[in-house]
Amino acid sequence: MNENKYRGIIQKYKKFLPVSSKTPVITLNEGNTPLIYAGYLSRLAGKNMEVYLKYEGLNPTGSFKDRGMTLAISKACEENAKAVMCASTGNTSASAAAYAARAGIKCIVLIPSGAIALGKLSQALIHGAKVLAIKGNFDVALDLVKEVTRDYPIKLVNSLNPYRIEGQKTASFEICDYFGDAPDFQCMPVGNAGNITAYWKGYKEYKNLGLSRKLPVMLGFQAQGAAPIVRNKPIKDPETIATAIRIGNPASWKTAVEARDESKGLIDMVSDTEILQAYKILAAKEGVFAEPASAASVAGLLKLIKKGYFKNKKGKITCILTGHGLKDPERAIKTVKTPKVMAANLKSIIKEIGY
Ligand SMILES: *Cc1c(COP(=O)(O)O)cnc(C)c1O
Repeated sequence: MNENKYRGIIQKYKKFLPVSSKTPVITLNEGNTPLIYAGYLSRLAGKNMEVYLKYEGLNPTGSFKDRGMTLAISKACEENAKAVMCASTGNTSASAAAYAARAGIKCIVLIPSGAIALGKLSQALIHGAKVLAIKGNFDVALDLVKEVTRDYPIKLVNSLNPYRIEGQKTASFEICDYFGDAPDFQCMPVGNAGNITAYWKGYKEYKNLGLSRKLPVMLGFQAQGAAPIVRNKPIKDPETIATAIRIGNPASWKTAVEARDESKGLIDMVSDTEILQAYKILAAKEGVFAEPASAASVAGLLKLIKKGYFKNKKGKITCILTGHGLKDPERAIKTVKTPKVMAANLKSIIKEIGY
């Protein structure tokens, strides 16, 4: 195969990843997602600020989870695993199911019953995963998965699996490669906190290798009803429309706090109303459709702009848009006005569109 053709994050960044020539690479050509300049948000942020959207919804299964999953599944295959398992708010299960299908191994998924978006559930099912909807939330599901994978020959592929974090850190590499350096600020949603951990690890590694000069200030955002890190205590019944970050006891809590503190950043929370506002602004003003959890990064950005956080500052802000808007079509439909039904009549259509 031609080495110059893009074949996913393992091929592209193998020097920085725990792989060898013996690792079977299970890939869907994930990564290499666009960093899109956001004109409307840049103007709001101030004259010395530039805002960019890292559109991770354009990964093969529609979320950033693919970066970690290609590595987790490749390593599971290298270790001769025949089955993988995860708890999921949706996107992890979609990704695990797709990569397991590609690898020809079994995938078992525990999801909180009734709390995952339709697009994600349909993905896990169509890829042939064994999907079990449990009467409990994500945190309960993850505890069960930890027990099962401890006692049976099944690999855990939640972000507690260190290969997930390793794969996900490649998003920082792409951003640094694109700008020629790290951004000044990064806004991102925080759920189980694996992703903020991965980005921070990636930024630090690139800098230590002399491949970038600076480190970004990390700005993480949880949903108000699911903000254990902000409130400094686990939340027993987390609640938010942003189901991908509806997590009350993040697995990577400690490393998220390290990323926040080492970068002199912050982890704050945004309300569902603010998330939905940002969700609509992204779609209507920037032309980018991201799922509600992803919009939390932009909701956070808008909150900080309002507070004057970027006043007298300059530089680049990256907002991580973690998943595609089509993942949660029901939310989109609920957020907009349903189309007007009219007669198939030329005159009334012309009148309706205002000509
Ligand atoms: C998983 C996920 C998150 C949260 O990432 P963590 O690593 O759990 O913090 C945010 N948005 C989307 C779309 C996700 O799928």
